[in-house]
Amino acid sequence: MLPKDKETVSGQGCKPPVTVYLGLGSNMGDSRANLQRAVALLDLHPEIKVERVSPFLETAPVGYLEQPHFLNGVLQATTTLSPQALLAAAQSIENRLGRKRTVRWGPRTIDIDILLYGDLVLKSADLTIPHPRMQERAFVLQPLALLAPELRLPGCLETVGALAQKLAHPAAEK
Ligand code: AMP
Repeated sequence: MLPKDKETVSGQGCKPPVTVYLGLGSNMGDSRANLQRAVALLDLHPEIKVERVSPFLETAPVGYLEQPHFLNGVLQATTTLSPQALLAAAQSIENRLGRKRTVRWGPRTIDIDILLYGDLVLKSADLTIPHPRMQERAFVLQPLALLAPELRLPGCLETVGALAQKLAHPAAEK
């Protein structure tokens, strides 16, 4: 049977892609290679297209201090995945790259966080978007500001560039 109108056709599984920003971090093994592999694996996913990747910055650990410095970056991608499915895809890549969950905020081969998902604001049991505390964290804001300085977080008047400039401890590009 032929579809009756255009609406029926566009309703058949064609979701518009959403622009997302993901935060990446590593402080175990070859951190640069870990970040690059995470970017490549995300881009291999049929429903994720990596558009741009920030420079990788070296940052001091937060929370649990007795561990090596981190290498952090942010990527911009488009995806047709739901936020939950994007989290599952990110966690499966973390597992594939050998991430073991031991100490909270402790050393890790790779950490992939959903920073922003379009202008969505979401708080569920296992997912908070925008990512909690990203506004105060140099390791998130600085690479994000290098990619998208004019971006504003949902409900925030200041741009990401302005928020990054206010930070006390700038991260170094590596
Ligand atoms: P982490 O140890 O930093 O990788 O934290 C992972 C946990 O944070 C997972 O259990 C996620 O369900 C939860 N989580 C909450 N919000 C987010 C988010 N925006 N991105 C990634 N993980 C999140």
